[in-house]
Amino acid sequence: MTETVLILGGTREAAQIAAEFVRDHPDWRVITSLAGRTKEPKPIVGEVRSGGFGGAEGLADYLRAEGVTRLVDATHPFARQISRNAKQAAQIAGVRLETRMRPPWKNQAGDHWIEVASLEEACDAIPPHARVLLALGSQHIALFASRKDVHFCVRMVDPPEIPLPLPDHELIIGLPGRTVDEEAALLTDHAISHIVCRNSGGDGAYSKIEAARRLAVPVIMIGR
Ligand code: NAP
Repeated sequence: MTETVLILGGTREAAQIAAEFVRDHPDWRVITSLAGRTKEPKPIVGEVRSGGFGGAEGLADYLRAEGVTRLVDATHPFARQISRNAKQAAQIAGVRLETRMRPPWKNQAGDHWIEVASLEEACDAIPPHARVLLALGSQHIALFASRKDVHFCVRMVDPPEIPLPLPDHELIIGLPGRTVDEEAALLTDHAISHIVCRNSGGDGAYSKIEAARRLAVPVIMIGR
């Protein structure tokens, strides 16, 4: 049976799912939806649409208008609103929903994780005068502005549109390094004493965790 699939994306896994669907089911219409936050997203096989739908109702309208038969939520584990919307919209429109969520990373021998439950707790857990690699989305940076004693290295895919509110910081623009060696070099070059990140899971951002293990750098890990 031919299907029209909408993949809620913005992750490496979503792009892989799109490529698999197109390869395995040439007669399917495969659409990947991006929020539109990244200026130059990597190419994705199949159709791509970009921008919000206007809440769960808007997404339900889209599902009906495009005759979507299968909705796949392959968004980032910390992108909670769109996942809530997907559940509601699937119900409203009577479309089958499949959730493909990456499992979280597990603490391994040699890891030194300080596990916290929120950004606020992460901010409080940073020791005085630390040098921190802040590996978080731009919308989460402002909360760390209260830590005037800390030097932050902020890694972002695109340069920020407005200056970051952090008193003492430097920017590292680009995707996470692919290899442990690259990430270890970054930690050493910037004399990083701590990493703050979220437990996203997946392979794409794991090299920094392995580099931290190699160099015995503590990771303040924000849980799901
Ligand atoms: P969010 O808080 O769950 O979503 C906020 C709003 O953005 C949604 O209500 C929706 O707007 C729109 N949106 C989100 N994902 C969308 C998608 N795939 N297609 C169309 N609209 C989308 O999400 P977020 O944390 O801002 O993340 C935005 C996107 O970046 C997600 O697609 C996610 O997979 C990706 N991403 C997020 C993170 C992260 O750390 N959160 C990391 C890497 C990638 P409407 O209500 O108007 O439809």
